[in-house]
Amino acid sequence: MFDCVIIGGGTAGMTAAIYLLRAGKSAMILESTALGGQITASARIENFPGLLGVSGIEYADKLAEQVFHFGGQIEPVEVKEVRKEGDHFMIETTDDERYEAKSVIIATGAAHRHLGLPREEELPGVSYCAVCDGAFYKGKDVAVVGGGNSAVQSALTLADLCKKVTLIHRREGFRAEPVLLERLRSLANVEIRTGGVVSELQGEDKLSSVEVTFGEEKEILPIDGLFIAVGQKPANEPFAALVDLDEEGYIVAGEDCCTRTKGVYAAGDCRQKAVRQLVTAAGDGATAGLAAVRYLDEN
Ligand code: NAP
Repeated sequence: MFDCVIIGGGTAGMTAAIYLLRAGKSAMILESTALGGQITASARIENFPGLLGVSGIEYADKLAEQVFHFGGQIEPVEVKEVRKEGDHFMIETTDDERYEAKSVIIATGAAHRHLGLPREEELPGVSYCAVCDGAFYKGKDVAVVGGGNSAVQSALTLADLCKKVTLIHRREGFRAEPVLLERLRSLANVEIRTGGVVSELQGEDKLSSVEVTFGEEKEILPIDGLFIAVGQKPANEPFAALVDLDEEGYIVAGEDCCTRTKGVYAAGDCRQKAVRQLVTAAGDGATAGLAAVRYLDEN
């Protein structure tokens, strides 16, 4: 029986663990994919106070080191269901393991949204992570889809490696921070195309080109790699019995990270919120961790 099981080993989950552990509580983090969450896809962190220039992977490694330093545990499992049984919670994984906890923090972040094109999931040459896969496209031509910070940061990362980067965005206006966009616009090997939608992936065994639709016109863009950065979607269905989800699937919880079930907290990008940044994920981790400590002390 753990004092707290934390589902998700990104910034929010690992921060929550550090707060619980330092308060003398036991904490187990369950993480189904790579530790660190979304930030591991950032080549360079520039907007976390005091951490200018650290890579996302370095930052995530340091966080995990801090969790282990304070005696935390991390298991690579995927949670399929969380139930309340009496005064505690039962967490079941997809490989039929069970964890019991007095409190639960959900910090599952959000997964990459897909374009929904045929063969998108299986065609080599399609990626959702420029930091992870960019090196495979050294000296080649690539395209990035999206108009948010993730897309512009991906294009900046790829511009350092690739011969040419084309950024394709469906609108004229960008969600990305102007400072990042300006940096991208200043690069000679980057072309920004607006008002275009990638409508087809082409190539036999691997991607060789994409069809881009600009209004009535269709254009074929020969590329070796396509990086899709069109936002995230949450995956909170396993928790629907204990928490309310909004129409987009985010957990309904305020700045106090409390959900409708006492002892269950939501932290980071998986909860309904206005700003999804590294610093807000860390803030949520602290808030949820301390709320769980209070709950454990009072019950
Ligand atoms: P985002 O801000 O939601 O942007 C998603 C982009 O993808 C939008 O430009 C959207 O177009 C476009 N898009 C969505 N669906 C599409 C589709 N089917 N086809 C074509 N384009 C589509 O997502 P994000 O960039 O992943 O960022 C998520 C959050 O993380 C944001 O809050 C962001 O600020 C934060 N973040 C911050 C940093 C940083 O360094 N500060 C880095 C990464 C992420 P429309 O604009 O037309 O809707």
